[in-house]
Amino acid sequence: MNKTSEYELTIIVPVYNEADNMAQIEKRLGAFLPHSLKRACVLMVDDGSTDDSLSLMRGICSRNRDFYHISFSRNNGLSAAMKAGIDFACSEWVGYIDADLQTDPEDFNLLLAKAGEYDMVTGIRANRKDSGFKKLQSKIANGFRRKMTGDVMKDTGCPLKVIRTSMARKVPIFTGMHRFLGALLMLQDARIEQIPVRHYPRVAGVSKFSLSNRLVGPFMDCFAYRWMRTRYIDYKVSSGDLNGGNDNAGK
Ligand code: UDP
Ligand code: MG
Repeated sequence: MNKTSEYELTIIVPVYNEADNMAQIEKRLGAFLPHSLKRACVLMVDDGSTDDSLSLMRGICSRNRDFYHISFSRNNGLSAAMKAGIDFACSEWVGYIDADLQTDPEDFNLLLAKAGEYDMVTGIRANRKDSGFKKLQSKIANGFRRKMTGDVMKDTGCPLKVIRTSMARKVPIFTGMHRFLGALLMLQDARIEQIPVRHYPRVAGVSKFSLSNRLVGPFMDCFAYRWMRTRYIDYKVSSGDLNGGNDNAGK
């Protein structure tokens, strides 16, 4: 247990060399928290940044009560940062937004309005503000992934999501996992809703992904997913006595 257990929602922000975005994270997420539909905190995950991100993050946490951080000793990749946030969050819900704020924190409330009815509510980037080339890469990758996995995700890479923590915790971790969250949650029969959200260009810092790490790895991962689907274990306990005679197995 940690301080995030005092909230209903922990918003995870993966940070890898995003020093130029830290001031906006403090300002924009700080402005959102007071009117979040679920009582929320921010958990920044430093993915082994080599710029000033970590010290700026420490400053934010010392000035703001509802901001927390954890830091990796080295760069482990976005999936690992996301998974660490999920593992350390003790609130019923986890949220996710990128550090470059290409999506608007205010739109969390659009997703939160549906949370509860659904186990994951995720954005669809309306009027996506990335280059035509990047959108084309996404289109090809998304189309192939949907064919291979049978998932219903219209925009799996959208950096605005809320997920029931207990389900997010059961998602197997591997590099590239963040692109398969929807498909992996479907293995648990998760109820998923997708809602259009606003999207903006990156205004500070640089993108961490290139053509090769956006297409080649994910292409292979589709095969790994199909294998995993045939092997995935999702047991449901129907009774037990872990509470000393109470027949509900501690759940
Ligand atoms: N990121 C990370 N570790 C990495 C690469 C990226 O934590 O190894 C974070 C990054 O700081 C950002 C998010 O993942 O918050 C998405 O990265 P980016 O905006 O570069 O991706 P794009 O929008 O270009 O797909
Ligand atoms: Mg981005």
